Amino acid sequence: MGSAGNISAGVIERYIESQRSQWMTMRKAFKYRLYPTKPQARDLERTLFLCRQLYNAALQERRDAYRKAGVSLTYYQQKRSLPEIRTELLEYKGVHSQVLQNVIERVDLAFQGFFRRVKHGENPGYPRFKGQGRYDSFTFPQAGTTGVKLQKDGKRVLLYGIGSVKVKLHRPLEGRLKTATVKREAEHWYIVFVCEVEPKPLPPNEETIGIDLGTNPHFLVTSEGEMVEAPRYFQKAQAKLAPAQRSLSRKKRSSNRRKEARKRVAALHRKIANQRRDFHHKLARRLVKQYGTIVHENLNIEGLARSCAAKGVQDAGWAQFLSILAYKAAEAGRRVIAVDPKYTSQACPTCGHRERRPLWVRVYTCPGCGAHLHRDVAAAQNVLARAWTGPSGVAIPCPRSPGL
Ligand SMILES: [Zn+2]
Repeated sequence: MGSAGNISAGVIERYIESQRSQWMTMRKAFKYRLYPTKPQARDLERTLFLCRQLYNAALQERRDAYRKAGVSLTYYQQKRSLPEIRTELLEYKGVHSQVLQNVIERVDLAFQGFFRRVKHGENPGYPRFKGQGRYDSFTFPQAGTTGVKLQKDGKRVLLYGIGSVKVKLHRPLEGRLKTATVKREAEHWYIVFVCEVEPKPLPPNEETIGIDLGTNPHFLVTSEGEMVEAPRYFQKAQAKLAPAQRSLSRKKRSSNRRKEARKRVAALHRKIANQRRDFHHKLARRLVKQYGTIVHENLNIEGLARSCAAKGVQDAGWAQFLSILAYKAAEAGRRVIAVDPKYTSQACPTCGHRERRPLWVRVYTCPGCGAHLHRDVAAAQNVLARAWTGPSGVAIPCPRSPGL
């Protein structure tokens, strides 16, 4: 053994490398459709059923322990009883032990959330039992090493306890596989792989842009005056939803036609959600490529109230878009800044004159300086002005300016 002062350059290098890979890796989810045979679908259903039973039993055990003895059981205490369960209840043998551990972990997370809410004085909402249809997924927490295996160039996936299931990898899987979650959505099955990937930084870019999450028909408007609309096909699918829903509400209860109508509505919802996600991905990719710094209004503060009142149904979509944008920016080494949106929609970006205008006023002339303005473009310019901009890749705190 060398003396304490004898650290070789190689050791340091390896240490730095290990630290580096810790900051540098990020997790990315890949969701694919599964095509189980009928018997496989039954096995998937049974697995869900068994996991749900275990979840409810573990929840019951915690409740009882707390009520009778005033003690809280831990994840580790509950996990210890799993081998016994698997030897005594034969049907649980068909479920991977780590899938069952993950069920216990979910119970634990539900309780952790509960205690956190109690501590913060929020409405705690005691963890609830899961009814049928309320438990729709199970997870292989170490899918990279056990329980799950891709086969035949990714045309099939071998799942412990289920068998070799057909899968469609519509985009390639990247990185190192960490977890796999099998999920039921309506009558379809999916598998979500979570992988660790290396970020792919883009070259530095000094361009900055402000975006305003626009009012209809614009999805967003930029400080440079670009107006992005949701794609036509998406608007078309959305337009079909209302009549499909009306038709469903007219069908007699528990009739076959109602069943069919309900399937149609669910399929439309799914299609719309997929198209929306796709649109968000493409738009985020383009913005991240074009700009080094992207500034948007922070939806968590006032923006949310404003969006509920003024912008209606799109707001759910924005949260998704912003999270995709933040993710892609992080992956590319680009910067996204959220700023306080207060007054951004009322002030003139040139002179600061502030005025409340009805929503239908799109274009106006500023009474302060005579500038001709488009309301949403002006808002995007105000959003941009709220952030301090600098070279890309440098985190600069954004000051809360008083007014504009
Ligand atoms: Zn002005």
